[in-house]
Amino acid sequence: MARFNVNEVENYGGQGGGGFFSLKNDKDVATVRFMYNTIDDVEGYSVHEIEVDGKKRYVNCLREYDQPLDDCPLCAAKFKVHARLFVILYNIESEEVKIWDRGKTFFSKLSSLCARYNPLVSTPFEIERNGKKGDTKTTYETYALDTDDVTLEDLPEVPELLGTLILDKSYEELEFFLENGYFEEDVEEQVPPERNPKNDRRNSTSKREPANEAPVRRRRIPASAPAEDKASTSHPTDRRRTVENQDRFF
Ligand SMILES: [Zn+2]
Repeated sequence: MARFNVNEVENYGGQGGGGFFSLKNDKDVATVRFMYNTIDDVEGYSVHEIEVDGKKRYVNCLREYDQPLDDCPLCAAKFKVHARLFVILYNIESEEVKIWDRGKTFFSKLSSLCARYNPLVSTPFEIERNGKKGDTKTTYETYALDTDDVTLEDLPEVPELLGTLILDKSYEELEFFLENGYFEEDVEEQVPPERNPKNDRRNSTSKREPANEAPVRRRRIPASAPAEDKASTSHPTDRRRTVENQDRFF
């Protein structure tokens, strides 16, 4: 499986609003707000990397860390689990919400900022890239600007990441992907139904027990303490339907 670093984040699709944030060249600077009040608002995700239509994509891992590997088809197939932090930024110049793809160690950086600036969103920051394009040792500095009275309510809505930037697939959909290299629903929308004998195979895989019965669980990385806000991890069951069309923009 392909490895990637933050310099390659442009490969991860998503142009325009809600896409990934990147500073491409040495000393590039952006002025942003972190769209959080406190560190408790920051969520991590455990994801896999897959390639869909020639593009690298993140897909949500179905397994909690203490669940058996077989609960997630990609884990069972030895795909590496990546703990990622998708930092939600408001780019003040472009007036767009952007997602900054960072490793989980960025939690401690954000924690330090939250301890000094509270609520965090009320202080704009300059982010400066130190490192040439392609340099894997690239670092980013954050410089606080003057605190004001802007709140989260003054900014655009935070986008749902699951089902958009992070693909959110079921156990059966991931199994289908492993067998075929694509997601069935992507094809159904583009080709006539008669050219689609895969339905039979899908039916046969769905007979597997008991994994078919396992509820989809989402793993969150606790910010500073074990996650206790289970309520915030639930999503409406019809959510994927509403965002499905956005998948194709990436
Ligand atoms: Zn997994």
